[in-house]
Amino acid sequence: MIAPRSRFLISRLDAGSSSAFLVYSDVVNWIVLQEGSDLTLIDGGYPGQAADVVESIRHIGGRPEDIRGALLTHAHVDHLGGLVSLSEKYGFDVYMDPVEVAHAKREYLHQAGPGDIVPLAYQPRVLRWLSKVIPLGALSRKPIADAKPFPEPLDLPGAPTPVAAHGHTDGHSAFLVADGAALVSGDALISGHPISKIDGPQFVADCFQHDKATARRTVESFTRLDATVLFPGHGPRHDGSVAAAAQRALELPGR
Ligand SMILES: [Zn+2]
Repeated sequence: MIAPRSRFLISRLDAGSSSAFLVYSDVVNWIVLQEGSDLTLIDGGYPGQAADVVESIRHIGGRPEDIRGALLTHAHVDHLGGLVSLSEKYGFDVYMDPVEVAHAKREYLHQAGPGDIVPLAYQPRVLRWLSKVIPLGALSRKPIADAKPFPEPLDLPGAPTPVAAHGHTDGHSAFLVADGAALVSGDALISGHPISKIDGPQFVADCFQHDKATARRTVESFTRLDATVLFPGHGPRHDGSVAAAAQRALELPGR
């Protein structure tokens, strides 16, 4: 399914009475879960992608007014940014791992800054990436002021289930969706990135990892999952055993 102007691609996975959609853009992904007319949004792109998030929702026949709540994998600007304005405009709550709440409120910021990126900026792919993401608001530090921890129980359309996936940030979370068939992995396990030289399951570049050892243990835990589809935070949908995808990332050179 190709959206108008091709700023994103939508891929669908049906499970019982609900559907999960991966919305893939060339800089970051987000996920929409649809159950009847009710929606759950997982992540929301860069600040400058909020209108694309709305457009992707309309493209699947939904309305942003029907977002019952949003989930955040982690509080980096490429995942949180669009949710800042969308949650204000449409009045939905944004839930996350309790450890990530203070990060989303910007009580602190664990994110690669210019000092981490400049040493890489001689690479044409890094320059190309910066020239795309800075106009999308990559330098914004706006918080989700009323970020909330997952409620007990977490009862959102599409029945997403959090999977603790710490390391990339201290409170990073993944989610099982589509009755456990798909893992929304955020940046714990990705399938490509504009600054990566390789395709397929992999870790994000070290400069973006807050705690590399914990991030590795998280991917080791993914080798015990039964999911058969990966909806990553960056890169295209990956079909096939998530456990095998995780194993492949662990075996890449330099890991
Ligand atoms: Zn990211």
